[in-house]
Amino acid sequence: MPVINPKKAEISPRELQEEFKTQIVITNAYIIYQSHLREEALQKGVHALLDFDGVVETDSGSFQLMTYGNIDVTNEEIIRFQNDIGSDVSTFLDIPTVPGATFEQAEKDLEITVKRAKEAQKFKKGAMNGTVQGGRFLPLRKKASKIVGKMEFDIHPIGAVVPFLLKYQFTPLVDIILTCKKFLPVEKPVHLFGAGHPLVLAFAVLLGCDLFDSAAYILYAKGHRYLTPFGTRNLEDLLYFPCECPVCTHTDPEVVSTLPEPEIIQFLTRHNLYATFTELHKIKQAIHEGSLWELVESRIRNHPNLYESYKVIRKYTLFMEKFEPFTKRTGFFYTGKETKYRPVCRRVKTRIAFVDKDVFDHPVFGKVPVSLSQTYPFHTDEVFDISEEEIIKGICIYQFGSKAASLFDSTKIAHGRTGKIRHLYQDKTLLATLRPMDGLFVLTFEGAEKLHALLPFPERRVTADEEACPFVKEGKDLFAKFVIHIDKNLRCYEEALITDDTDALLGVGKLMLSPEEVKSFNKGVAVQCRRGVNAVHNP
Ligand SMILES: [Zn+2]
Repeated sequence: MPVINPKKAEISPRELQEEFKTQIVITNAYIIYQSHLREEALQKGVHALLDFDGVVETDSGSFQLMTYGNIDVTNEEIIRFQNDIGSDVSTFLDIPTVPGATFEQAEKDLEITVKRAKEAQKFKKGAMNGTVQGGRFLPLRKKASKIVGKMEFDIHPIGAVVPFLLKYQFTPLVDIILTCKKFLPVEKPVHLFGAGHPLVLAFAVLLGCDLFDSAAYILYAKGHRYLTPFGTRNLEDLLYFPCECPVCTHTDPEVVSTLPEPEIIQFLTRHNLYATFTELHKIKQAIHEGSLWELVESRIRNHPNLYESYKVIRKYTLFMEKFEPFTKRTGFFYTGKETKYRPVCRRVKTRIAFVDKDVFDHPVFGKVPVSLSQTYPFHTDEVFDISEEEIIKGICIYQFGSKAASLFDSTKIAHGRTGKIRHLYQDKTLLATLRPMDGLFVLTFEGAEKLHALLPFPERRVTADEEACPFVKEGKDLFAKFVIHIDKNLRCYEEALITDDTDALLGVGKLMLSPEEVKSFNKGVAVQCRRGVNAVHNP
């Protein structure tokens, strides 16, 4: 969300909406409160004041508090003011701790923040930010996340990180973000307050941040600085524009440099915004296709401190692994030695431990069973002498555990056009299809029945609430709020057995969230049901 200066916006919110498709902006309620705009905002509302009909989030003046030491408004006054001007997402007056502060100071600041967070609940109307503070001290960030996370807030910004960003101190930042994420409720979006440089966005998203705001596009433009995902450049140092945005493609640095100052700033503001939005689009596409790790591993190479900070994720492998999908739309790419830091590397070690002993040397995962050489994430071009029965058994164990080794024993194999295993039948009943994309099995209801018989409760089960059972039986998706139990060892995009509370099999499908998310979410599909029991028994 671009930061809008309510007094004078270089690019108006209307232009942002029309030219950049901006859906949400953030502005500072304290600046409005203090200025001649106050009466106008109270009369017309903040949307009309800014001439923007998207979502308007407001900040409370905490940033001014950090910068100037004190401000002239109380917590109650600024919350009530944000309510009165019709802010969509308001912010209470938290205390941002400066990075140089001692532990005692940070603890004192946090006490006040928590007190104000409690007070804010009383005046809250609509959505509100519950900002997490605690300075550079991880025990305080943990404490703050736990306390504020339990309150009735809608978004959790991680506050006071701008000084780290400005100094390129990414290592403490990664620790702060992951500590907060570990202890904040998984169903609430996290906003990294003040982060908007395209260099850091992909990594911050990987760490679990959902929202960003920044005035960088305009502040950097005023300093003749040109934003790119590989760092900042000075306009004066550019011979070419390394960008394909609408403003850069029609000119060159030499021409721009000769423009009057306000036009240079206009030009750079626009480019900086395009560079930021383009990076966000790349990140969203990478999430869609499952290549976010690869994107981040290419971005961290653009600054030595960023590269160094990537090592921190190794401390949080267990936590991050829980949210890492089991399979992806695109293959697994090795980009360098840090690829081995990905949490999936730890997961596969435990999953392949029970597969057969015939192994090959994989550049990322080490000794990998030959039977998995065509399965995500182990794909290799090497060809091995192995029977189809062994391949099927290996995939079953990797996918469903060692108790499922015999799942497809003595089934009939149908081959695809390339000669690879495609379908598995028992008599004339289809049990499973081996998906070519990732070399994993997709179960039919009959296949799921066999798996259900082999695995004891609660393995691979997602248990539906009584209310949802009739819908699942018909093959309808199971929503997260109707799940009463889920096997915590399941991972997103795995095959899941949907059962009722007597462990009767109702359906089979693909898990769409991690178990932690299923337990916490009130909205959204938990299991995309492929087939319900009624479709099979009353076709
Ligand atoms: Zn550009």
